[in-house]
Amino acid sequence: MGKKDEKMRRVGVKAVLFDMDGVLFDSMKNHTLAWYRTISGMGIACERDEFYLYEGATGEWTINLIFERAYGREATKEEIERIYAEKSRQFNELPAVDVMPGAREVLEKVRDKGLIPVVVTGSGQRSLLERLEKEFPGMFAAERVVTAFDVRHGKPHPEPYLKGLEKAGVRAEEAMVVENAPLGVQAAVAAGVFTVAVNTGPIPEQKLKEAGAGLVLSGMPALADSFDDILRK
Ligand code: MG
Repeated sequence: MGKKDEKMRRVGVKAVLFDMDGVLFDSMKNHTLAWYRTISGMGIACERDEFYLYEGATGEWTINLIFERAYGREATKEEIERIYAEKSRQFNELPAVDVMPGAREVLEKVRDKGLIPVVVTGSGQRSLLERLEKEFPGMFAAERVVTAFDVRHGKPHPEPYLKGLEKAGVRAEEAMVVENAPLGVQAAVAAGVFTVAVNTGPIPEQKLKEAGAGLVLSGMPALADSFDDILRK
């Protein structure tokens, strides 16, 4: 290894920040169905696929967006609490979500290379947060998980990823983010982190590119395959 390579290595990636829904868990189809059932159940017209685009935002943000469109006003605190509780109830009634295909392979690579894995999710879905340890034992230390409970702002605000960098103890240029949602990509890019988008849902690839993804891949198996190459660049 030459001097230049050694220098590159010193400024290389030390931590990988993973979004959770649609990256580690194949959970977005359940989230979008739960949102669709909750909102359409209130007599408000909506489409299931639109909720893929709101992924990463807080429940409050999503409910306010729907309320502004339907009623021309924001929701009250009580309405937000009631509607988010109903969305969570609907979510928990759906069949358990699977680990995202390829996620374990990617995490093995992270561990083999001695990188720090961090989870950065806008989710406050406790059933999934509890499953992180069960499905990926010993992988994510509790102090390296950023959830809806740790942040004031949801994605696309950079706060969740800035918190993730802080928890990993690395600078933005020493990290890489893996995201699947446009708002999540925007948040990571706003935090100054190189972002790989895995397009695990029905969103057109262009939306992820427009959000600022440095690279768009078809899914986690593709990321596992190209992981070494990406780190080298
Ligand atoms: Mg996601």
